[in-house]
Amino acid sequence: MATASPARHHAVVIGGSIAGLLAARVLADHFARVTIVERDQFPTAPVFRAGVPQGRHLHVLLERGQQLLEQYLPGFTKELLAHGGQSFDFIEGVRLNAGYGWNPQFFGNIPFISATRPLVEWLVRQQVLAQPTITTLPEQRVVALMATPDQKRVTGVQVQRRDDQPDNPISELAADLVVDASGRHSAAPDWLRTLGYQAPAVTEIDPHLGYATRVYHPDPATPRTWLTLYQMMQPPKHLRGGVITTVEGGDWLVTLSGYGDNNMPPTDEEGFLAFARSLPTPDIADAIASATPGSPIYGYRDTSNQWRHYEKLSALPDGFIVTGDAAVAFDPIYGQGMSIAAIDADALARALAGAHDPALRGFGPRFQRDLARAVTPAWQLSSSSDVLVPGVTGGKPSFTVRVQNAYLGRIYRIIPKQKRARLTFTRVVMMTKPPTALFHPAIFLRAMRG
Ligand SMILES: Cc1cc2nc3c(=O)[nH]c(=O)nc-3n(C[C@H](O)[C@H](O)[C@H](O)COP(=O)(O)OP(=O)(O)OC[C@H]3O[C@@H](n4cnc5c(N)ncnc54)[C@H](O)[C@@H]3O)c2cc1C
Repeated sequence: MATASPARHHAVVIGGSIAGLLAARVLADHFARVTIVERDQFPTAPVFRAGVPQGRHLHVLLERGQQLLEQYLPGFTKELLAHGGQSFDFIEGVRLNAGYGWNPQFFGNIPFISATRPLVEWLVRQQVLAQPTITTLPEQRVVALMATPDQKRVTGVQVQRRDDQPDNPISELAADLVVDASGRHSAAPDWLRTLGYQAPAVTEIDPHLGYATRVYHPDPATPRTWLTLYQMMQPPKHLRGGVITTVEGGDWLVTLSGYGDNNMPPTDEEGFLAFARSLPTPDIADAIASATPGSPIYGYRDTSNQWRHYEKLSALPDGFIVTGDAAVAFDPIYGQGMSIAAIDADALARALAGAHDPALRGFGPRFQRDLARAVTPAWQLSSSSDVLVPGVTGGKPSFTVRVQNAYLGRIYRIIPKQKRARLTFTRVVMMTKPPTALFHPAIFLRAMRG
């Protein structure tokens, strides 16, 4: 643990979700005090909260994300298991159809823990807030940045009590560094404009993905060979898909998904079941027909890929950085967001370790460039597949992307038949191997032979 220098007295994090909590954890190694400002009241149990509306839907924690959580929060994995997270091998326990038949299940040595989003966030929060120098300011909304008179340095935030009274008084919270982790609807571009800076350019690629999710109680007497059943979408061929995953308590979280208005999974009983029946295989519909509903059906559509290019800005005030979904948010179908929040925190830890100026002058642009580099492989994976979706807005497949997609199409065809391809593909998706691993000669030759 590094020692905080006098110029690194207090850091403020905007947003107490996964990215904000992990940023706070890292900042605590370099600042005497860290305050997380969060507009919600933090629940005292692992339950849904309004500030994270996506929390009712399937949240996969990729292997790379789990590794980083364990690194920064030692004992996290044990806690997740102790609280009912379901542990299984991702090849053996997942029955997967990626558009070309059900894949064989075998032991692949790819550990995976399935749990609901509220449980993951609650455990991260318990561990982060156990650090005595990290405190929270709940039910407070950040409404603006404070700055020096020449606007060259952010000096804190203005906060307003969040009980929906617009004339609530505004108070000020001074900070040596402000970290925006307020999610995909971050107001930071407007705050920067108010200080006289340019807002970042935005790349938004929207394949118009919708989710509908419901909890089911499975019949324990029915034998099954899987803990997750996954009928993948395969644009442009299959624009509907579904996942059943076993979470704490042995319940199933059933998420149906579709691209475009004609494929939005409905949230009424009849429509939900009919949508499940419309999938290319009957397995998901048959499984849920054998189970008992355990919740209402919740829909979600706010899912586009959004990259706010802070790394390309010619100027940023000192004392301010952006992380998590507020910087780069992903189409959730690839299950990357929480792991990216951990990758961003890791980039922050490295950048702070290498920053010798106690006042962190010029730190923001450097960190945003590091973050951009760290998230690029994940962005390429999600955005290059999404440009294949008919009706996608904001992205067109370049020549390179078309070649990549053609190759990936061949990989999907061979993964039911070649163990090495299936293992490597899974590790690329889990972010523990780079996408270039799919060009291993044995995989390449098989893919080209078809
Ligand atoms: C439908 C859906 C499914 C997903 N599935 C997966 C998955 O399978 N796997 C995965 O890893 N990721 C998934 N994600 C992504 C994941 O939810 C996020 O990437 C992850 O939560 C990290 O986001 P974040 O912390 O940056 O922002 P968020 O989780 O959006 O949190 C932002 C926080 O900031 C607070 N806040 C906002 N504005 C203010 C303000 N002005 N003042 C104070 N507080 C503020 C909010 O209340 C909230 O707590 C999914 C996302 C969606 C939409």
